Amino acid sequence: MKKLLSCFLSFCLLMPFSACKQKESEHSATQIMMDTVVTISVYAESSDILTGAFELCKHYEQLFSRTIDTSDISRINNSNEKAVNVDPETLHLLKTALEINEKSNGAFDFTITPLVELWNVNKATDPPTDDQISTLLPFVNSRFVELKDNSVTVTNGCKIDLGGIAKGYIADKIKEYLTKNGVTRGTINLGGNVMLIGDNNGAQYNVGIQKPFAKAGETALTIKLSNKTAVTSGIYERYFEHDGNIYHHIIDPKTGYPVENNIASVTIIAESSIIADGLSTACLVLGVDEGKHLAELYGAQTIFIMKDGTIIVSDGLSVDQNGELPCVKMK
Ligand code: ADP
Ligand code: MG
Repeated sequence: MKKLLSCFLSFCLLMPFSACKQKESEHSATQIMMDTVVTISVYAESSDILTGAFELCKHYEQLFSRTIDTSDISRINNSNEKAVNVDPETLHLLKTALEINEKSNGAFDFTITPLVELWNVNKATDPPTDDQISTLLPFVNSRFVELKDNSVTVTNGCKIDLGGIAKGYIADKIKEYLTKNGVTRGTINLGGNVMLIGDNNGAQYNVGIQKPFAKAGETALTIKLSNKTAVTSGIYERYFEHDGNIYHHIIDPKTGYPVENNIASVTIIAESSIIADGLSTACLVLGVDEGKHLAELYGAQTIFIMKDGTIIVSDGLSVDQNGELPCVKMK
């Protein structure tokens, strides 16, 4: 629960809703879903719309979860190399995941599953051995995934895990659902994956970015944002410690080890949350220079918080800093 709470507070929407249209008022609800805390807040005439939004979330969890036996992803992972018919939305998500895999030169790899299972950072107390890791690395390769019009085939013992991108897609779809139903103002927070609908009654929202390894809710900086998404991947989110080392949940597909570089977290700001989610994971693996280049390909902005506390932000972002941390603008 502590980890769930920390995800929940990774982003704090610092400015409460203020004035609103006539008859509309703020409705907000929180549920535990997808192993995280999901909070949806809207300005609407009634709270009924929230029920539909949470049902949608549940529907996608049933499709994309690696740990639900009947999900599309589990059916693919248990298919013994046979083609599996899947929902068109699963195919769309896999297509985007493949594209980010290619554009990131393999840093984002949704076939990292055997290593995610081996490291099992939520429960483990000891790292696996080098031999265990090198035995599993040959199964990691997104090229082992073949997408057809309505089916997916995986070969060479490969298994899929969409944990690095699915929440982004779900945030996009919840936003689409709410706006189609007339919502012009609201926020969706899927465990720190934040989507803003409209603006904050004419002003921008203040979105707080979690200070890595600090108490949940303590922010390193705040950004001003409207009608966009901000997604963070951080090495402090899920990890265990052993002999003074931290073993976290984002794995470098080249080595099979949790990423080791000087980055503590990456936040991506974009229009599309599926892109922001995929990129946040990829950029953490790639590092500042290559990560920034990848984000630019998608027209996305970046905030890197380094392990020494330095914050490196894209040009054009409106940032307020808390505390004494040095802030560097990217060229
Ligand atoms: P969060 O789980 O906090 O939303 P991310 O979006 O960065 O953070 O996703 C991390 C998850 O993605 C891991 O828990 C794992 O399931 C999966 N994953 C780990 N390493 C990679 C990688 N190199 N490429 C793609 N997915 C990864
Ligand atoms: Mg991600």
